[in-house]
Formats: sequence, C-alpha cells, structure tokens
Amino acid sequence: YAAKEKGKNRFLFYNQQSDKFQRRLKLEQGLRKALQNQEFMLHYQPIVNVATGEIIGTEALIRWEHSSGIISPLEFIPIAEETGLISPIGDWVLRSACAQNKHWHDLGYTTLFVSVNLSVRQLEEEDLLKSIQRILMETGLDPRFLHIEITESTAMTNVNQAIPLLKALGEMGVSISIDDFGTGYSSLSYLEKFPIHTIKIDQTFIHSNQMAIIKAIVAMASSLNLNVIAEGVEIENQSRQIQETGCSVMQGHWFSKPVCSQRLESFLRNPEALAIH
Ligand code: C2E
Ligand code: MG
Ligand code: MG
Ligand code: MG
Repeated sequence: YAAKEKGKNRFLFYNQQSDKFQRRLKLEQGLRKALQNQEFMLHYQPIVNVATGEIIGTEALIRWEHSSGIISPLEFIPIAEETGLISPIGDWVLRSACAQNKHWHDLGYTTLFVSVNLSVRQLEEEDLLKSIQRILMETGLDPRFLHIEITESTAMTNVNQAIPLLKALGEMGVSISIDDFGTGYSSLSYLEKFPIHTIKIDQTFIHSNQMAIIKAIVAMASSLNLNVIAEGVEIENQSRQIQETGCSVMQGHWFSKPVCSQRLESFLRNPEALAIH
C-alpha cells in the first residue's frame, strides 16, 4: 500500500514538473516575440511626498499582456535574464520611461523623476552606459530626472564592475537607488563605497510593522546623506507611523497601485485624488 502511494506521489511530482517546464517553454517562446508584437507596456506608480502633498516621481513597472493573460514581471524577468532577452527588453523599458517622463516635463511637471529597475544582467552589459546616454539624448530627458533602481544583491554580484559603472552614471547626472533595501546579505559598509543617492526600504518591513528597523534605516540614511523611500505602504496607519520616523517619501497601494500613463497623468493634474495628506 505504502509503495503504491509513493508511486502515485512520484507520478504527481513528474506531472507537476512537466507542467512547469511546459509553461516555462511557452513563456520563453512568447517572450522572443513579445517586443515586436508590442505586448509590453509600462505602468507607473506614484512616489509621493506626504509632507508637501506632491507626486515627486514615478516608478516604471513593466507589464506583459500575453495571449493567456497578464504575466507578472516576477515570473518573466528571470526568464528574460536567463535567455539574454533582458537586454532589448531593458532598453525598451528605459526608452519608454524616459520618453514618457519627458512628455510629462513638456506638460509642465518639470521636477518629476522616473525610476527604472535594472536587473543584474543589464548591469553586466558592456554598452549599458552608452545605451543610457543614447536614450537620454534621443528622448531629450535631463539625466537628473532618471533614477536607476538596483537591488543590493544586483549591486553586490559584481562589485568591481558595479562601482565604476554607477560612478559613471552618477557623473552623467543619473541618480542611483538601492531597491528592496534591508533584505540582502551584504554588509552596510558598501553604502559608503557605492555612489548611491537613495535607499528604498523593503516592503516586508512595512508589512510586518517592524517600526524599529524602519526607524533605524531612516536614521542611517539621514546620517549618510541619502534620500529614503518607504515602499509598499498599504494603509493610513503605516503612512502615519512612517512619517513619524522622519521619512515622508512613500509609495504604495494606499496612494495608488501602478497605473497606465493616462491614469498617472490624471493624478498629476489632480493629486488630491490620492490619499496624500
Ligand atoms: P520592485 O522594483 O520592488 O517593485 C515594487 C513591486 O511592489 C511592484 O510589483 C509593485 O506593483 C508592488 N507594490 C507597490 N506598492 C505595493 C503595496 O502597497 N503592496 C504590495 N503588496 N505591493 C506593492 P510588480 O510590478 O509586480 O513588480 C515586481 C518586481 O519585478 C519589481 O519589484 C522589480 O524587481 C521587477 N520589475 C518590474 N518591472 C521591471 C522592469 O522594467 N525591469 C526589471 N529588470 N525588473 C522589473
Ligand atoms: Mg523597484
Ligand atoms: Mg522594491
Ligand atoms: Mg523587488
């Protein structure tokens, strides 16, 4: 009886594995055509200053409208990285986000920045710096309004390559943010070595209400002269408690989920529609 059960489980296991494999294969094939089929779009999530009631910037987040439905970047970005497709996709993201932000500047929102996520493979590309330079030139966006987000682990994967690259970006005027701060394995000393401008406190600290940690991160950022953003703010109470720690720049569902560019534009016209107090 036991052996029979075991066999059944094994069968189930193989089946699950093969389902996973099939999906992965399907996504990989779809990903190869997604750019030319224009299946990607960017959503923008407002980054707000609750002290002034302003939208100060946005984070660009990629969406893939596959024939089977919307697929999360958490699922397809790793596949794009493994297959090398991240390079053209990443260029598309940068170009679209810069062009959109320039458009918003042209409408009169001249201090708005856009924050773009960069994956580890992109950081390793030889011509990343030149690509970003070209994209900024062609879209006409002032480099000061482009922020690049990298996670701690991305930055630490190849420190010797990352430091000069981030330095060069900084010299161009581009700002660097450390995304999901506090979840990586790296030592804090890199914060002084890395030419960065902003740290984004990981959502998990906010969701698990670890206010002591948040307070410590905010204090540390302040003494290192870094900006700080709290991500994943979902309820009013979190917003209030975070503001009490001295951090007034936030992002999260409490203000707005990531939305299409037209929707974001309506928020720019009417920021009172967001719960910024
Ligand atoms: P991330 O850069 O840390 O982005 C924040 C994620 O948290 C987004 O998920 C956003 O929709 C979600 N979020 C924002 N506010 C809240 C909130 O209040 N509560 C909760 N529970 N979630 C919130 P999304 O859009 O699914 O993106 C997931 C991750 O995929 C991103 O994490 C980023 O690492 C990656 N990603 C997204 N777009 C790109 C891209 O264009 N390029 C690269 N390389 N990675 C991207
Ligand atoms: Mg991010
Ligand atoms: Mg994040
Ligand atoms: Mg993340």
